[in-house]
Amino acid sequence: TGMYLMKRSLAPLQVINDTVKTIEVNRLDKIALSDNKNELHDLAVSINQALDRIEYGYKQQQQFISDASHELRTPITVIAATPTFMPLGKDDPAVLNESLTAIKSETDYMKQLIERLLFFARSNNGTLLNIYEINTANLLQEVYSEVSLIDKEHQIILRQNDEALITAEPGSVKQMLRIFVDNALKYTPAGGQVTLTCQADEKDRRYVISDTGIGIPKEDLERVFERFYRVDSSRTKDTGGSGLGLSIAKYIAKANNAELELDSTLHKGTTVTAIFQRTQEE
Ligand code: ATP
Ligand code: MG
Repeated sequence: TGMYLMKRSLAPLQVINDTVKTIEVNRLDKIALSDNKNELHDLAVSINQALDRIEYGYKQQQQFISDASHELRTPITVIAATPTFMPLGKDDPAVLNESLTAIKSETDYMKQLIERLLFFARSNNGTLLNIYEINTANLLQEVYSEVSLIDKEHQIILRQNDEALITAEPGSVKQMLRIFVDNALKYTPAGGQVTLTCQADEKDRRYVISDTGIGIPKEDLERVFERFYRVDSSRTKDTGGSGLGLSIAKYIAKANNAELELDSTLHKGTTVTAIFQRTQEE
């Protein structure tokens, strides 16, 4: 009787063992659950939940690869097609010029896209390696100086730049601020204003980037942080972007323990705020 009972109670282990043996990343069979609610049942439920998480992650990766390939296909199609038209422009400098400009702009776009894709490929499960105490004002000043050099079409204003310390990885925080400023410039018509601010108080430190641009519709506010999401692609046709900027910014904020807030009014402008906690030592 003892043998029989032992065999019976260990039978679920056999089921678990058989199922686990067949598991591959693209074939995640679940363990059939018995009606007996005991420890082995709980173990099987936990394994199934872990498999669900792996499956979700795997599907996300697949989707990412497919979106990325799709994004790369358009510029490559343009570049591949252009030389076919170039002989037509042999005697017409305007046509020739247009072809070369198309190749240049598609190549630039591809370069930026590849850099952004590499960011995700290299990112280390959300952990950043070089965390320091950094001076908030220096960082914003650098970003301000860089964009002021590159962009002459907008009024770029450094309104307030408080000095304080944050514990973060400087390179990534700068990259995040550049993403915000890049958007502010891209989605604000020439002549508009882009304002950079750093505010530090008792509670926290805030980087605020505001613009007087086209704004984001309410229903898109949450979605703009998704990978490859762009608001109404027709209105952004000539601003060429991959829709990855804000998803990278969100990733960087999370890795640095910062929070993001996005506030926007259509046709009026957009404000992005990154909130860092003050460091312990202060
Ligand atoms: P890129 O990968 O080159 O940054 P992108 O600018 O399209 O491409 P995101 O930076 O992720 O991608 O922004 C997503 C979308 O959110 C944009 O396509 C744009 O429609 C909207 N958006 C972002 N910032 C602003 C802004 N300051 N004003 C208006 N719309 C914005
Ligand atoms: Mg962008």
